[in-house]
Amino acid sequence: MTASSVHPRIVDWADRETGMEKRGILDGKVSLVACGGYGREAVESAVGRACELLGGVEGMVGDARSVFIKSNAVFAALPDSGIVTNPEVVRAVVMEFQKVAEHVTIGDSPGGPFNKAMLKRVYERTGLEDVARDTGAELAFDTRTVDLSFPGGEVIKRLKLCRAMIEAECLVSVAKFKSHRFMNVTGPIKNLYGTVPGTTKLAYHSRFDGEREFADLVVDIHLAAEPDFHVLDAVDVIDGDGSRRGSVRKMGVIAAGANAFALESLVLRLAGLEPSDSKPLQAAIRRGLCPGGADWFEILGDSEDALRFGGFRLPSENLFSEHTLAKISGRMSRYFAATPYPLPGVCTMCAKCVDICPRGAISLGSRAAEVDLRRCIRCFCCDELCESKAISVRRPLLGRIFKG
Ligand code: SF4
Ligand code: SF4
Repeated sequence: MTASSVHPRIVDWADRETGMEKRGILDGKVSLVACGGYGREAVESAVGRACELLGGVEGMVGDARSVFIKSNAVFAALPDSGIVTNPEVVRAVVMEFQKVAEHVTIGDSPGGPFNKAMLKRVYERTGLEDVARDTGAELAFDTRTVDLSFPGGEVIKRLKLCRAMIEAECLVSVAKFKSHRFMNVTGPIKNLYGTVPGTTKLAYHSRFDGEREFADLVVDIHLAAEPDFHVLDAVDVIDGDGSRRGSVRKMGVIAAGANAFALESLVLRLAGLEPSDSKPLQAAIRRGLCPGGADWFEILGDSEDALRFGGFRLPSENLFSEHTLAKISGRMSRYFAATPYPLPGVCTMCAKCVDICPRGAISLGSRAAEVDLRRCIRCFCCDELCESKAISVRRPLLGRIFKG
């Protein structure tokens, strides 16, 4: 069922600064806590301390009786894959909020069809089902959507979002920090892209197919969803070429705060990156939603120096991204830009990439999936989704020379 309404969060937008100030979003305080691994006690202690340093979760919940905890469960990936928020972190966050809220719900809207069967599979694989069973929290199977008017949006004025998350009295985001082939990194800002229901994500990908437009869309969605609080799982992170072909590395950090822009700035700084290395943060800075420097937020908790993480590799460490190359070179893109190539012998012909491609560029051939490069926008959603790691990334000779 689709409801059409103007939600109070969006009405808040008319008085955005006051609304944000009331919710502490203009307050750039973030907490930083070392966490060496996903052992239950260590994570509970780190998450508890991260919340406590900010005055506890009571202030975030306010008068709300129900809380929705939005994990990153974008795919049916295992907890130790580094792709999804680790369930031990979600579990610890649930327990914190259960101290002050009557009802806690956990969920996400994964890529692909937004239906109960898909949600069940994703919750099972990512460990969220176990978290719900152990804590008594509810798992979200509500697939209703809401069409929202969003007059303050930079690139989108009307949005379709998941009703259960948007209408939650208190929305808490528990993001994962990792590299991302399209946005460079994904973390506290982009986690709210998961408030967009399954296949609508693909429609938005197709409509906003440039890096800058998509980053603006991510920021618009983040603002429309207006999360109340963020916890960041950066204990294990993925760097390099994104979820499926990057490397899982130990960063050892739990961080929290009401301001996702501050939190994203912090984790970038810890990783030795610049604010501009996150396309969504770059968009937020350009739009005046947060300062561009590295020192505008206050860090509470452990020493930043002790938690610095060297050598975080971005997907494209060179001058031009794949996407930019594909766009600027237009018809010549086949000579420059990297392209997805499903490998015969590895591809199981499961057709999941066929369903998820926002441009309908993939079909099943006789031995493997095949990509129509005239349609492909190099978003690499197929690469992120493919559980068989069957999609290799190929770059023509000219592209290799140009990219260095
Ligand atoms: S490339 Fe991956 S997702 Fe696509 S059909 Fe092959 S195995 Fe399935
Ligand atoms: S083929 Fe892959 S990279 Fe190309 S548009 Fe489709 S999902 Fe994106």
